[in-house]
Amino acid sequence: MRMPLIAGNWKMNGSLTLVERFGEAFAEAGLSPSVEVCLIPPFPYLAAAQRALGGTPVMLGAQTLNPQHGGAHTGEVSGGMLREFGVDYVLVGHSERRALYRESDDDVYDRLLAALTAELRPILCVGETLEERDAGRTRDVVLRQVGAVMARLEPAQRAAVTIAYEPVWAIGTGRTATPEQAQEVMSEIRAYQAGFDRSLAEGMRLLYGGSMNADNAAELLAQPDIDGGLVGGASLKVDDFLAICQSAG
Ligand code: PEP
Repeated sequence: MRMPLIAGNWKMNGSLTLVERFGEAFAEAGLSPSVEVCLIPPFPYLAAAQRALGGTPVMLGAQTLNPQHGGAHTGEVSGGMLREFGVDYVLVGHSERRALYRESDDDVYDRLLAALTAELRPILCVGETLEERDAGRTRDVVLRQVGAVMARLEPAQRAAVTIAYEPVWAIGTGRTATPEQAQEVMSEIRAYQAGFDRSLAEGMRLLYGGSMNADNAAELLAQPDIDGGLVGGASLKVDDFLAICQSAG
């Protein structure tokens, strides 16, 4: 049985006040032990989030990391630094980073490896653009992105990776993939993983991301290959995010 994971990616949004509000709301609400929740604020809020969420089971994540351990990389943050702030999860390959910061499949692999080396749990984000979907290339694109990383890992490393399927056309657009569309691609991802190791594929968590909200979460999460969500916009509203977490647990 796979434990659902709901991860809230704040992107370049939020404030210290919002961090405090989340800390209070999650301390009050109490979470079901059958769901894992992770908050992924911008770097400067990690220390405050660590304090505010300290009395709750909510874990912390980071939005990216540099592949290097340290050195002359102005503006960058290493995996070791993230660990010092209690970070457990880190996103790699988010479509905004692939598109806006030109991160290639190789860059994504390097970051994911750095995350594993720092004992962080990477969430590998993959997904097709609308143009790619319309051209019938969804499966090829998504499995290329998955394979570019997973095929280069050792078996033990593969087990530490969570994959988030995020169709680019559904991110921040309010246009969610239907549960059937998401399930179709995510079952392909699991089948691909089974080519390495069937029991690893059975245990691997797959998240859906793309305009998940309090109204559509339950239906998406009911799909057999959807084990959680990567939530952007709706993770900035504490009541909506709590409702999504509750529908998973
Ligand atoms: C995301 O940024 O990963 C995301 C899924 O955003 P949204 O929920 O806003 O579509």
